[in-house]
Amino acid sequence: MSDPIRISRRAQGLPGYPLAEIPAIKRRLAAAGMDIIDLGAGDNDTPPPAVAVAAMTEALANPLLSKYGFQQGLPAYRQAIASWMQRRFGQTFDPATETLPLIGSKEGLSHLPLAFADAGDVVIVPEPGYQAYLGGALLAGATPHVVQLRPENDFLVDLETVPAEILAKTKLVILNYPNNPTAAIAPHDYLQKTVDICRAHGIVLAYDNAYCELTFDGYVAPSIFEFAGAREVAVEFFSLSKSYSMTGWRIGFAVGRPELIGALTRVKSYVDTGPWLAIQHAAAKVLDGSESIVPSVRDELQHRRDAAITALAEIGLHVQAPKAAMYIWVPLPPHLPSALFTRQVLEETGVVLLPGSGFGAGGEGFFRIALTMGAERITEGVRRIGTVLAAAGAAV
Ligand code: PLP
Repeated sequence: MSDPIRISRRAQGLPGYPLAEIPAIKRRLAAAGMDIIDLGAGDNDTPPPAVAVAAMTEALANPLLSKYGFQQGLPAYRQAIASWMQRRFGQTFDPATETLPLIGSKEGLSHLPLAFADAGDVVIVPEPGYQAYLGGALLAGATPHVVQLRPENDFLVDLETVPAEILAKTKLVILNYPNNPTAAIAPHDYLQKTVDICRAHGIVLAYDNAYCELTFDGYVAPSIFEFAGAREVAVEFFSLSKSYSMTGWRIGFAVGRPELIGALTRVKSYVDTGPWLAIQHAAAKVLDGSESIVPSVRDELQHRRDAAITALAEIGLHVQAPKAAMYIWVPLPPHLPSALFTRQVLEETGVVLLPGSGFGAGGEGFFRIALTMGAERITEGVRRIGTVLAAAGAAV
């Protein structure tokens, strides 16, 4: 008998999520006794800040923090967000109307197209890119327009190259710098030009700043709101996942002018009831103490980055040291498909990498190393990658 239940075209139209099959393969290999080096998901091996754990413990004893948070959430968290935006970027936001707690930034980013794009409207997304952007656009019934990030464009989305008829239908552009997966950063003149184009066309600019604190060699990542006119069009997204090793806590936030934050709030009030208040309590303490937490994370990542770049050079893969994020985006020799290569590396050596094609077809020709383990493990992981490359006749 044929199955009477039909899965929606929207759900069917979602490409397979890139990380979905890795945990099962890892479990199988580990059970067979293989030593796994996981440089796949952007999930650092470092613990969450002590202040987060202490605040969470305290919060568990407070029954008021076990109630619904609704979209307003914990006023102290909104206040901590506004104070951090002021200290970090010199930008003033009203906690009550211009900040919004999120259940991780992925949640906000993927719900955003529902607030600004109708069927037939275009959402511009980068490729390779964080796949929740594409998924959010598809689930909203909007039409994604994919812009390729290539080394020759410094991995920037150049809106001037988007055909005029597409730009005319565009309601939302999603940008992410420092970038996942390429680790590219965006020059200031590029960001100003992009804000100007969005203003000229009435396009919402979603700026995903998940990696703004993970910067190296003295580079300081800006907020989009540091650029003239950005208040008119931008919504900026931040995450506590990466800078504070709190991926599983599911906490982030968005900031923007009241009308834009209000539109996302309206959507969210129908799909969730806000992050757990206890987590917002802990997140407020983390943001308040951010300046004493982030430097050591940054130093450790820079050390890991340097180890990865050195080890890669030793196996014949020469990559420029990135200035930010927690990834190395490594070009593969042309005849090696990235999914096949990373699968082979995992099955034969136990090293988890992500294939470039997992970030959209435009990521083909690369693989991504996440700097999620200590320098020694990264060096060992890269050495193992080298054995697979050599067997494929690709090492120099
Ligand atoms: N944005 C980018 C570019 C990411 O790489 C990620 C996670 O990998 C996120 C957003 C989501 O982070 P979270 O939902 O944990 O805040």
